[in-house]
Amino acid sequence: MNTTSFKVLKIAYRPEFIHPVKEGHRFPMLKYELIPLQLKHEGLVNERNFFEPELASFESCCLVHDPNYVKQLFDLTLDAKMVRRIGFPLSKSLVDRERYIVDGTVQAANYAMQYGVAFTVAGGTHHAGYDFGEGFCLMNDQATAAGYLLKHQLANRILIIDLDVHQGNGTAHIFEGHQQVFTFSMHAEKNYPFIKQRSHLDIGLAENITDMEYLKILEDNLQDLFQRIRPDFVFYQAGVDILATDKLGRLKLSPATCGRRDELVLGICMQQHVPVQISMGGGYSPLIKDIVNAHCQTFKIAIDLYNL
Ligand SMILES: [Zn+2]
Repeated sequence: MNTTSFKVLKIAYRPEFIHPVKEGHRFPMLKYELIPLQLKHEGLVNERNFFEPELASFESCCLVHDPNYVKQLFDLTLDAKMVRRIGFPLSKSLVDRERYIVDGTVQAANYAMQYGVAFTVAGGTHHAGYDFGEGFCLMNDQATAAGYLLKHQLANRILIIDLDVHQGNGTAHIFEGHQQVFTFSMHAEKNYPFIKQRSHLDIGLAENITDMEYLKILEDNLQDLFQRIRPDFVFYQAGVDILATDKLGRLKLSPATCGRRDELVLGICMQQHVPVQISMGGGYSPLIKDIVNAHCQTFKIAIDLYNL
């Protein structure tokens, strides 16, 4: 890909990404509203950078998910045990929200093919597996977009880099042993999900890892993976629950390290001319500004690196 084509930043977003959650619910949906506002406030993007995804079709959702499971989601007939595993009360608006996110990431992957990099202001729903939802994830946006790229022969060797503090167990479940989609998850070992799936490469980190050690492990593995896999497309799950302030993470990393992490991932993608789609993933710091700043930092790094 020619670097001169890296000129437009496309960001999937629509107001439905913020789903009304019950009072006292821990899941901070508010960040999805604040990230675009903050980016616009700082003059980094304007309205033209955003696009509104549509509802992903049943067929799209079945690219990597069991049609029976998808049907039960769409019909709201999923049994109570499966709904509890998801963690949200199931409703049409919640399923629609996830369908918008899935389509957003599929379209963002297409934009990334065109412009080098593209974002979804949500997603990274990596706990959703082939035939189950889990941990607030109904369907897996990046896995579906990977399925889409393969189906349309837009990519042949896809690397999913998942740096959320929690293992990408759903993504691993979907692509276990897959020849064309390589899953890499680097996460806190002693954290949810306690029963882990097998990614192509899992690195379970100790809680007391230092910022320096974290970055060194990441850099070495990225170099090695790019050499070994030679990916032609990358999905990056850029969860910010690795921060020391996070109440669900178990790592003690600084915002600067979180930014350096993004630089390492996006830097190697840019250097090697591999298109990359980025989804937000987790972030549960008590102060919403810590979450929003860390996510906006990922955008800033992309804007700087790609000269957008
Ligand atoms: Zn997480």
